[in-house]
Parts: sequence; structure tokens; C-alpha cells
Amino acid sequence: MKPPPFAYSRPQTIDEALETLHEIGDEGKVLAGGQSLIPLLAFRLARPSHLTDISRIKDLDYVELGDDGVLSIGALATHRRIETHKALQARCPAINEAVSQIGHVAIRNRGTVGGSMAHADPAAEWPALALLFDARFHLQSRSGQRTVSAKEMFVSYMTTVLAADELLLAVKMQLPPSGAGTAFVEVSRRHGDFAMAGAGSVLNVEDGVVSEARISVMSAGLTAVRGLEAEQLLIGEEPTDEHLQRAADHIESAIEPMEDVHGPADYKRHLATVVTLRSLQKARSRSMGAKT
Ligand SMILES: Cc1cc2nc3c(=O)[nH]c(=O)nc-3n(C[C@H](O)[C@H](O)[C@H](O)COP(=O)(O)OP(=O)(O)OC[C@H]3O[C@@H](n4cnc5c(N)ncnc54)[C@H](O)[C@@H]3O)c2cc1C
Repeated sequence: MKPPPFAYSRPQTIDEALETLHEIGDEGKVLAGGQSLIPLLAFRLARPSHLTDISRIKDLDYVELGDDGVLSIGALATHRRIETHKALQARCPAINEAVSQIGHVAIRNRGTVGGSMAHADPAAEWPALALLFDARFHLQSRSGQRTVSAKEMFVSYMTTVLAADELLLAVKMQLPPSGAGTAFVEVSRRHGDFAMAGAGSVLNVEDGVVSEARISVMSAGLTAVRGLEAEQLLIGEEPTDEHLQRAADHIESAIEPMEDVHGPADYKRHLATVVTLRSLQKARSRSMGAKT
């Protein structure tokens, strides 16, 4: 199908874009890489009267990895740009492992980090990474700027706190210390499909016990989910298979996966525990390997 008719503008600066979004209001939509929005238009699942194409705003296209471990990503940085960032890959393999499983290369070449966060698909990798690394989101409208946490950003199924006249400018994540291990594991029916289940983990093993643990799970319900209680089961414990399994099993109670064409909810719940365990095991060996 062809999209319904819409007006189109392509601002060159953030201020111009904010002015346009303010004028158009609720009837408009931001267009970034178009990898989610254009299919929605084509299927007539979205009918905006105006598209504000931000893809030429150079100030939104950057990736910076600071010596302090803060990763700053401009909204227009593409998935592929993150995937091919060598220093980031070495510093935090979980991000590369997650992003390299987004669709296919053609999609990763055009799709943007900001677009994926704003789209907030619960089966998408970026919202799960945002929860895992305590992301801060920088939002701006004509009336001012605000910063929200990952917990605040993702409200429900494909719903964020972003207002219609607001742009997501950037995402900042605090990466764990270099001695920590990180990993992201997912399963999908075919290469390039959205995942049926996926989990990211951070484990820092110091003097034989877990000093830091983080878990986040995608395809887990209306939004990605952080496994805070499962994390607490690991802190202060030896990272034995038994302890990792106990934390992974606990994830079942934190999620509400939805039945879909790929399988019933119970099956996905089981898969979530499997990918959580695998990601914890990988993170453990990376943390312990970093200290030998
Ligand atoms: C075949 C296929 C397979 C895919 N597989 C996966 C997958 O496995 N995992 C995955 O995570 N994604 C997948 N995607 C989606 C892809 O990752 C998209 O790139 C991403 O979801 C949206 O990014 P975009 O830049 O294309 O955004 P767009 O499609 O341009 O926009 C998406 C939404 O975000 C809003 N938006 C965009 N940028 C901003 C901004 N800066 N501020 C405010 N609002 C904004 C738009 O208004 C729109 O509502 C797939 C897509 C396709 C077509």
C-alpha cells in the first residue's frame, strides 16, 4: 500500500525542527531513519499530516566514548555506526552483541538510535540497553530541555514520555568499570528477525564474589524490563552456576511476555530465563577473564 498524503519538511538545524514541531503539534511526526515509521505509513497504521525529516541535522549525529566511561550518542547515530565502533566493542561487548542483531545491515545503515528509543518497541534492543546502562535521555521542545531516566522514558507498549513537539536529542549511558563483564544474548526464529527473547547482563566479580550485577530483558511485556530483584540475588555471592541459575529463574516473575505468532507467553517466559542465564555466564567469564 502507499502511505496517505502528508506534508514534508527537512529542517537543517535543531531550532528549525523544534519550530516546525511546535507549529504542527499532535498531527505531525518526526522522521529519522524511516525504518519503523515508513512501514507504519505504508500499512496505514500511522496517518500523520506532516513529517519533519531530521536526517540532515548534523548536530544530532555523533558518538562519543569518554575516558570516564560515559557513552554519549546523538539521536541520529545509526545502529551501524555503533556496531562498527571498535573502542566501544572492546570496552562493552554487550552493546555490539545487541546492536549487531538488529534486522539486517541495510536496516542498521539507516535506522538510528534515537528512532529506536522513541519508537519503544518492546522487542527492540536499544530500550533494553538503555535500562541496562541507566541511560539518561535529553529531550528538547521549543519551551525548554529536560532529562529523563530510562525508567521514566519507556511508559508502555510503543509509548514514551516524548511529547509531540519534543525531540530526543541524545542518550547518555554510564558504562560499567572496565573490570566488569557485559554480554547480550538473544534468540530469534531467523537471522534478522525481531528476537523472541533477549537479555543483557553486567557482572563484576571481585575477590571471587559479585560486586555489581545488572540484568535487563527485552520482549518481556509492554516494555523492556530491568531485573532488579534477580540482580540482588547475585550481589555478594560467588558467581557459581547455581547462583546464576537462581537469578535467571527469578526473571520469570519480573516479566509478562505476550503471546504472538512466534509462540505462547509461557514459551517466551522460559526463553527469557535461558537467555538471561547465557548472558550472565558470558558476563561472568568476561569479568573473571579481565582479572587473570
Ligand atoms: C525488516 C526490519 C527488521 C527490523 N528488525 C529490528 C530488530 O531486530 N530490532 C530492532 O530494535 N529494530 C528493528 N527494526 C527497526 C529499526 O531498528 C529502526 O531503525 C528503529 O526502530 C527506528 O529507527 P529509525 O531511525 O528508522 O526511526 P523512524 O522510523 O524514522 O522513526 C521511528 C519513530 O521514532 C520517532 N522519532 C525518530 N527519531 C526521533 C527523535 N530524535 N525524537 C523524537 N522522535 C523521534 C518517529 O516519529 C517515529 O515515531 C527493524 C526494521 C525493519 C524494517
